[in-house]
Amino acid sequence: MIEFNQVSKKYARDVVALRDITLTVNKGDLIFLAGPSGAGKTTLLNLIAAIERPSSGTLTVSGANVGKLKSSGLPYLRRNLGLILQQQKLLQDRTVLANVMLPLLVTGATRSEAENRARAALDKVGLLDKSATDPKALSGGEQQRVSIARAIVNRPQIILADEPTANLDRDNANKVLDALRSFHAVGVTCLISTHDEQFLNSANRVVFLDQGQIVDHWQNSAVVSNHSHTSNNGNNGNNGNNGGAA
Ligand code: ADP
Repeated sequence: MIEFNQVSKKYARDVVALRDITLTVNKGDLIFLAGPSGAGKTTLLNLIAAIERPSSGTLTVSGANVGKLKSSGLPYLRRNLGLILQQQKLLQDRTVLANVMLPLLVTGATRSEAENRARAALDKVGLLDKSATDPKALSGGEQQRVSIARAIVNRPQIILADEPTANLDRDNANKVLDALRSFHAVGVTCLISTHDEQFLNSANRVVFLDQGQIVDHWQNSAVVSNHSHTSNNGNNGNNGNNGGAA
């Protein structure tokens, strides 16, 4: 579904954000991208969404070569992606429901169709009762769940979430992750970045980045590669379900 083949990303002034990334994301995966700030997690997600383009190597997303994609191909690529990115704040001048309806109205849905689907999306993240509320009246965790509803309202095949639990306490962070997991449970492929290792136990795959490189990769309980990452001792606590390479 997503294939990185020796992908590197260099920004101006010779900042190498990603170096020789080779990674296959299969349909239905739930992958956590872990690693310290500056490791390249955001860049990796931005490449999948074609917000950034690879400097070298090949990246294929749902059959499209991202490096060669013309701007006319972007809407088609992004229709398959639910994006929960840090720069995409909720619009403060309209209700929660209106925020979630927006992606549908942009793609030509009627108002009543958009409203029905937006309500269903809010119901899935447990916030239907907040439909008429202003986003600023919600807690950080609730706002993040509204962002998830907005991201999935177009029924994407892939969700990309960049640090969705940043600045949340554990209870709210768990609710946000539960909402994401519920979409994974119905077959949506999810990539979630985090620098918070407490959330990694439930993942079926964890990719550790450091200084732009994959330094460790767990798949179920199996360590697929372990070059230098030492925290957690390679044990992701996934109760011995050693499924190996899926
Ligand atoms: P993370 O999400 O893991 O914190 P990022 O992908 O944001 O990491 O950043 C990886 C590296 O690329 C960092 O050194 C960062 O400063 C640099 N970087 C990220 N975005 C840009 C940009 N637009 N221009 C220049 N450098 C950038």
